[in-house]
Amino acid sequence: MSKIIKKAVVSDYRDSIAGKSSNGGCYGYWTVYRLFHEDELRAGLETRPQYEVEYGTIADFDCCKYCGKIGSCICDRIPQIVTEERVFEALSEAEEHPSGDVHGEILEYVEV
Ligand SMILES: [Zn+2]
Repeated sequence: MSKIIKKAVVSDYRDSIAGKSSNGGCYGYWTVYRLFHEDELRAGLETRPQYEVEYGTIADFDCCKYCGKIGSCICDRIPQIVTEERVFEALSEAEEHPSGDVHGEILEYVEV
């Protein structure tokens, strides 16, 4: 059994300005990393945790959850898949960001 990340989020509020954050063109963004094949890991069919990436924003407009673009996008709507190393990297990049408006957080762990 090993403990791995089940869900982590990185939020980026660098461009967010109070009062303008919902529709004034200054948005906050978040990126969620979600373990997507927990059952396979448990069953031993997979050995490396992989994560599905989902983008979101606090803006009033919808953003594409696959590529993070606001408004219409022409991506092929396939979720990005990343390794656990990449999730740790994103979390430490957020921690080390000088502005203080970027945060990384592990929301859930799971034993597999
Ligand atoms: Zn897209």
